[in-house]
Amino acid sequence: MISISNLEFHYPSGDFRLSIPDLTIGEGETVAFIGPSGSGKTTLLNLIAGIVTPASGTVITAGSSIDSMSDRERRAFRVRHVGLVFQEFELLEYLSVLDNILLPYRISPALELTGAVRRRAVALAEEVGLASLLDRYPERLSQGERQRVAVCRAVLPQPGLILADEPTGNLDPANKTKVLDILFAFAANQGSTLVAVTHDHDILDRFDRTIDFKAYQSTADVAA
Ligand code: ADP
Ligand code: MG
Repeated sequence: MISISNLEFHYPSGDFRLSIPDLTIGEGETVAFIGPSGSGKTTLLNLIAGIVTPASGTVITAGSSIDSMSDRERRAFRVRHVGLVFQEFELLEYLSVLDNILLPYRISPALELTGAVRRRAVALAEEVGLASLLDRYPERLSQGERQRVAVCRAVLPQPGLILADEPTGNLDPANKTKVLDILFAFAANQGSTLVAVTHDHDILDRFDRTIDFKAYQSTADVAA
């Protein structure tokens, strides 16, 4: 599902360098990314999703070589194949909870917003305890509620790959379990791949594999 080789990445400014000689994540695999803040976990999710591109090396996601696509092709690819749960949620403030969950269907001509999709959106929201908040706007949601909206939005289009950046970071234990249950049930039922960044060592057992970003820090960082 994901195949990275000889990847070198740096931002236009700053000293941060990410080097990944070789990383493969299989179809249907569930993988946790752990590691210190600033070690590049979010950056790697963005590379896998094609939101940023490497200086050199290859990133193949869902059979497509992300680094050889145009910006437009990358955007179309993401809509079709990738569900993203951003660390900062990225909800639209002028849309209700339900419309935020339906957002991929509103912005992509490739996705058709049918009655069945709406019903699935409502059912997902109910599963994570958002049933009474469907008409509410994000400014009146708690961080945890926002996070759950972001998770519903990511799984609704049934992508082959879910990339979730600290999806349980703002949740109490009960809601943490609900969100993880949704993500893992979704991955199992759809055969989808799940990659999640987490600082929560209690949940690592649920994943097939854990990748520790300490291994990717450059020798300069380690020596410092
Ligand atoms: P993590 O998710 O593991 O906390 P990030 O991938 O967000 O780490 O960031 C890795 C490093 O890259 C950090 O040092 C961060 O400050 C830096 N960084 C992130 N985004 C940018 C950017 N747009 N421009 C320059 N440096 C950045
Ligand atoms: Mg991060």
